[in-house]
Parts: sequence; C-alpha cells; structure tokens
Amino acid sequence: MVSAQKVRKSFGKNVVLNDISLEVERGEVVCILGPSGSGKSTFLRCINHLERPDGGRIVVDGETIGYRQEGNVLHELPESALTAQRRSIGMVFQRFNLFPHMTALENITCGPLWVQRAKAADVRREAAELLELVGLEEKADAYPGQLSGGQQQRVAIARALALKPKLMLFDEPTSALDPELVGEVLAVMRRLAAEGMTMIVVTHEMGFAREVSNRVIFMDGGEIVEQGPSHEVIDNPSTERARAFFAAVS
Ligand code: ATP
Ligand code: MG
Repeated sequence: MVSAQKVRKSFGKNVVLNDISLEVERGEVVCILGPSGSGKSTFLRCINHLERPDGGRIVVDGETIGYRQEGNVLHELPESALTAQRRSIGMVFQRFNLFPHMTALENITCGPLWVQRAKAADVRREAAELLELVGLEEKADAYPGQLSGGQQQRVAIARALALKPKLMLFDEPTSALDPELVGEVLAVMRRLAAEGMTMIVVTHEMGFAREVSNRVIFMDGGEIVEQGPSHEVIDNPSTERARAFFAAVS
C-alpha cells in the first residue's frame, strides 16, 4: 500500500531524512517512534507531499506521490493533481485545527461537499455515521470551542475519514491532550485499526504501539535504526541507540 524508497530530505545542511525506505502493507498499522528531531514528522509530511523530498520516491496504492510517470521519466504534478492525490491520504496532526466557525458536523461534511461534489444528503448521512464511529453523535451541532481537546481530535479524525482515505497518517495525535483525554482518542484509532485501515502513526504512546501496531519503526538521526514487532523493538532492542531511548521513555 505504501512504498517509500530511499527518501531524502535536507533543510540547508541539515540532512533530516537519510535514505529512508519503508514498505507498509494494506491494513497494517505501523508506529514510528524516536527522539525529537529524528525526522518523524518530516517523513510523514513527505508521504503526502506536504514536504517535497529531495530524492527517492513514495508510492501509495500504485501512485507515485507528487509525480506522474511517463516511461522512466517522472514529471512533477501540478498543484491541482497533487491535491487530488492527497485526498486519498488522511492526516491527523497534534493540533486539531478544526474550522472554529463550523459545527462538528459541518467540519466533517465540508470536505466531501466541496471536493467531491457529492450529494448533500449522502454526505450528511455519512458524516453522522462517522460521528457515531468516534462516539460523538450527540455533538453534531457543537462548535469546536464547545468541545474538549479529545472530542475535537475525534472530530478531526472523522473529518479525515470523510474523504474515504486509503491511508491514514497520524502525527502525535494525542500529545497535545490532557492525560485523561488520551484514551478516548486512542480508542478511536484502535477501532480504525481493527476495521482494517492502513495507518502510519508517529506516537509516544508505548502502550498503543505495543498493543495495536503490527510493526514498530525506531528512527534516529534521519534513519530507520530498527524495525520489527513491538516486543522486539521496544522491549528488546538490538541497538544501543534504541535501548537508550526506550529505557528513557518506557
Ligand atoms: P518531534 O518528536 O520533536 O516532533 P520529529 O522527529 O518529528 O521531532 P522533525 O519535525 O521531522 O522531527 O524535524 C527533523 C529535523 O528537521 C529537525 O532538526 C528540525 O529542526 C528540522 N526541520 C523540520 N522542519 C523544518 C523546516 N521547515 N525548516 C528547517 N528545518 C526543519
Ligand atoms: Mg514531529
């Protein structure tokens, strides 16, 4: 479903991604862990081309992200085609960035209504189902300012799902939340995983990584240092760098 091949990215002289390669199968849940500044967010942002890699290639469901291939030549996609491509990749950030002047329901419906020109009645019904999926059916008419952080983040997940993505990217979706609100967001993510969504999750939640992910990636210094099942990578790392990191966070 996702194939990242030797992805490189530098900011000035700072090499942030140093030939990152990663394959993710359909339905797989991969957690990316690693210290601050190791390139986790940059890598996620490269997957949907919010950040343009300097080298390498990212293929999602058979499509090279950001490019159109003709023979062996890659042509950069115009912004409109890139936007279309991005729709199949949902992203949830640390901050919920909902539209403050729209209700929860409107936040979810606005994407499909504008983007896919879908029928309003269908969109509203699907949005109601998504609100139910994230456990907020009674908050359809609430504005973001009237919702807790955890509730806002669940609306943000529903909003991403409304465009029917093939892949969901999460960048520390719970790290801006009060501790007591973390569980409700992770529960929604667990449910999505159980329903077979392909997910790449940058997180510091070791419990979630242990229980939900099929595979854990440990990144440091712009490289994938270790990967494997969580009980190997988190509980029995083979490199000193990973050992030091997990000893500090677990
Ligand atoms: P954290 O756990 O703190 O979120 P991270 O692993 O997500 O860290 P990144 O945000 O990917 O790390 O950043 C990796 C490196 O790239 C850092 O050194 C950061 O300062 C640098 N960086 C990221 N974005 C930019 C940018 N737009 N311009 C310049 N440098 C950047
Ligand atoms: Mg980050």
